[in-house]
Amino acid sequence: MASAAATQACDLLKAAFPGQVTTLADGPEYESKRDQPWSQTCWVPSTAFVALNSAGEVASALAIIKKTGCKFAIRSSGHNPNVGFSSVDDSGVVFDLRGLNEKTLDSDGVLHAGPGNTWGEVYQYLQGKGLSPTGGREVQVGLGGFLTGGGYPPFPSLHGTGPDNVKGFEIVLANGNIVEANASINESLWRAIKGGTSNFGIVTRFDIETHPLIKAQFTIDMYDPSDYMNINAATLSVQDEMEKDPKLNLFTNYNMGFVAVFQLYADCPTERPKAFEVLENLPSKINTPLPKTDGTVLSFVETLSKMGHVPFSLNRKIATLTTKLSQELYDDVYKLWQGISKKIPDGAMLHYTIQPLSTHAVQAGEHRGANMLGLKKIPQTCKRLTRWLIFVYLILTYLNFTGWVFTAEWPKDLEKGSTVVEAHEELLQGVEKMARDKGILLDYLCPSFAGASQKVMRSFGGPNLQRIQDVAANYDPDGVFQKLQNDGFLLRYA
Ligand SMILES: Cc1cc2nc3c(=O)[nH]c(=O)nc-3n(C[C@H](O)[C@H](O)[C@H](O)COP(=O)(O)OP(=O)(O)OC[C@H]3O[C@@H](n4cnc5c(N)ncnc54)[C@H](O)[C@@H]3O)c2cc1C
Repeated sequence: MASAAATQACDLLKAAFPGQVTTLADGPEYESKRDQPWSQTCWVPSTAFVALNSAGEVASALAIIKKTGCKFAIRSSGHNPNVGFSSVDDSGVVFDLRGLNEKTLDSDGVLHAGPGNTWGEVYQYLQGKGLSPTGGREVQVGLGGFLTGGGYPPFPSLHGTGPDNVKGFEIVLANGNIVEANASINESLWRAIKGGTSNFGIVTRFDIETHPLIKAQFTIDMYDPSDYMNINAATLSVQDEMEKDPKLNLFTNYNMGFVAVFQLYADCPTERPKAFEVLENLPSKINTPLPKTDGTVLSFVETLSKMGHVPFSLNRKIATLTTKLSQELYDDVYKLWQGISKKIPDGAMLHYTIQPLSTHAVQAGEHRGANMLGLKKIPQTCKRLTRWLIFVYLILTYLNFTGWVFTAEWPKDLEKGSTVVEAHEELLQGVEKMARDKGILLDYLCPSFAGASQKVMRSFGGPNLQRIQDVAANYDPDGVFQKLQNDGFLLRYA
């Protein structure tokens, strides 16, 4: 039963936006909006879904939310699997931004794109013009969460993370004002949104730096997990090579019964890069589901969307950690996961992925005006020798690090669904403890892959958290986005 505030808001929204508000009475149309999110856990019956097609409409809808005190959630594509982030129960309404899907390209190569676009649509649009953005690795992922969070692209070492490549935002503030935020106007807000997620307003346009078309050579090999020590050693070897060559990247996914290693190169050389030889030569290779393929980031992302993720709907739960590189940790994580996986009932999956982030990625972000993510950086102002020593120190200690993504997937009607959730939590806690005990746990929690209960804003470090809090207090003094937004990596949890 809808709350009184939600009912009132729904009536006002219907009057303000005739034909744009979908409620239970709309039958299949309501169901398709409810069931849009990637994770079935987010198929939550809201009082209404409001399709908003312009910044002005977003401002008017927000005014109704404020007037009624109704809860709301912002949805770009609904790919975030945390329940309540882009979904809300019958105490609120969902702002569906899919209609904000304009794309225009400036003569200086800046793409102006609405949050309703998916990365597939953006890659497609730009490829025809010989350009590439720094976008996601899945065609259906939306711009909203990716660019306001920690957006991890296919080649982070080239141009940094997704938010690093945002030159400006158009954002609707809690007071209804539609403002620009970039390096010249509302500069603190611009920086804060780059990682600070939905704490300040609703982004209605991203101004995105584009790059000459990024080529991509990609291969997927599968290995026998029992050879984990060699697979881990090979993964670490490629991670080391990434420090020398920013065109390299890989993801190593430990799954039930196989290990899939995605090897990427941002060019199409005749010979595969030598860095991957360690993987080619492993005798535990089971097969090569995708032999060396030359393409672009678009074709890579299309391929990954078909081969890399389970293509049908499931309940999903994710979490993340960041650590320094360590063969001992990699091996211990495998053993822990092996043990915990035995508790996973048939039909469910518990898997994890190693995702590197190199010094090049951190520096590329720094060169673009920095973000809120708190990734360690090299001071640029000191003398050459000092800078070199710091560079070596940081490489050895901090910079080249590993993002871990832990994913649980299970069918909605699985009887033992709670076992999967518990196993996922046990894996997360176990890895966190092991990394902490070894002294190699890092603070950073990437918003793209973090679980709802992880303290993402705090993970960016005290000074960045303070900046985010100051900007939110300045641009949303009444705390509308803290009080009425249903959920998210909000400051109210920091
Ligand atoms: C199959 C798959 C592949 C993925 N691949 C990658 C990857 O390669 N790299 C990566 O970094 N991440 C990846 N992700 C994670 C993804 O980037 C995050 O889940 C991200 O939050 C999704 O953003 P969205 O806008 O699509 O999702 P939504 O669920 O619509 O939104 C996510 C969050 O962002 C907020 N938000 C959305 N739009 C706006 C806006 N306009 N203004 C303010 N706040 C907004 C929402 O309130 C919500 O809290 C992947 C996820 C899936 C399911």
